[in-house]
Amino acid sequence: MVADYVVPVPDSGVPAAIGFSQESGIPFELGIIRSHYVGRTFIQPNDGIRHLGVKLKHNANSALIRGKRIVLIDDSIVRGTTSVKIVQMMRDAGAAEVHMRIASPPTRHSCFYGVDTPERSKLLAANMDVEAMRAHIDCDSLAFISIDGLYRALGDQRNGAQPQRCDACFTGDYPTKLTDSDPQAPPLALVASR
Ligand code: SF4
Repeated sequence: MVADYVVPVPDSGVPAAIGFSQESGIPFELGIIRSHYVGRTFIQPNDGIRHLGVKLKHNANSALIRGKRIVLIDDSIVRGTTSVKIVQMMRDAGAAEVHMRIASPPTRHSCFYGVDTPERSKLLAANMDVEAMRAHIDCDSLAFISIDGLYRALGDQRNGAQPQRCDACFTGDYPTKLTDSDPQAPPLALVASR
């Protein structure tokens, strides 16, 4: 992939974008400006409020983006709501190409340990493979770090039989027994489509 700028989705994508830029040699630029007065969107209760939140929160730097091939970096894709809006924002600002790179593996399972992720049927990666996610988000390419790559980034190696860290939202390997839920059950949307 050849690109002109590495652009983080602020603020979540900033550390990974700095690293991606340093490793790839592609210049890091703040192509999206974020208002700090609007809260995180994925915990908002309904789609209308979430979409409004994304619209208010981020603004593209069109003077920088126009005609450029952009590598857009974020830390994760949960529902995909923010990603769809940000890619559209890049295209509206005149980006020639938008390539998304995600600094975590696909989030395919819910968290039961306190992180406010939605139920599994609402997780984009629980319902789609990477190519379908790319088409849904409408970016030119989409790639995630692998689970092994994530551990390597931590200076570690994953012990498959007994992971050293919780990585259940990526792998489904919950470190505790779930007493009232079947984590391997397919998401409701897949059940409904069969
Ligand atoms: S790694 Fe574990 S604790 Fe952290 S969000 Fe994922 S499931 Fe929850």
